[in-house]
Amino acid sequence: MPHKVDISCPSCGGHAVFEFAEVVKITLKKDVQFFEQSELFDYYMFKDSCGHKRHGAVYYANLHGGSTSAISDLPEGYQSENWKHSKYLIRSHGTDLGAFCCAHCQARERYILQWPDDAYYSINYKGETLWAFNRESSIDLRDYIASKLRKTENYKWANFLLHVPAVFKKQNARDKVVKQINRLLTR
Ligand SMILES: [Zn+2]
Repeated sequence: MPHKVDISCPSCGGHAVFEFAEVVKITLKKDVQFFEQSELFDYYMFKDSCGHKRHGAVYYANLHGGSTSAISDLPEGYQSENWKHSKYLIRSHGTDLGAFCCAHCQARERYILQWPDDAYYSINYKGETLWAFNRESSIDLRDYIASKLRKTENYKWANFLLHVPAVFKKQNARDKVVKQINRLLTR
């Protein structure tokens, strides 16, 4: 799953961008207080894959212009870069924490992703939902569905296209599905 996905804004329903939060393990207990009190970070207690409890410092780049440059004056042993490379760690704890920002209503908030329910590029056909992560993967999806040969390897989002449910790939679905995706892409 990409680090950023396009979602329907939880406030106004418009197009918003969600970005997963980054979590860095707090190794020394004496540092917990710093992260608890910091306005930039949220402190969380996580369980790792073995069930051990871990202290985590969560940072939402999406609330700070998409970068870690807002981070400074960290306790010894931490660098702002730590929060750049912690991708997906938080997901392995079953918590889809992050933040969204919306260009329509200007909302910029912490948010727990409900995927694929929140997907902005999402269509329904015969009781099934077809979604894409973002505009680029939607375009690949449309072109793939529209194509006669359906060669996933011709697309950047090949791995994603491999999981398109069969109902959308039927010949009689082609025109209807392509039309719906085009409508999403032009709204
Ligand atoms: Zn909005």
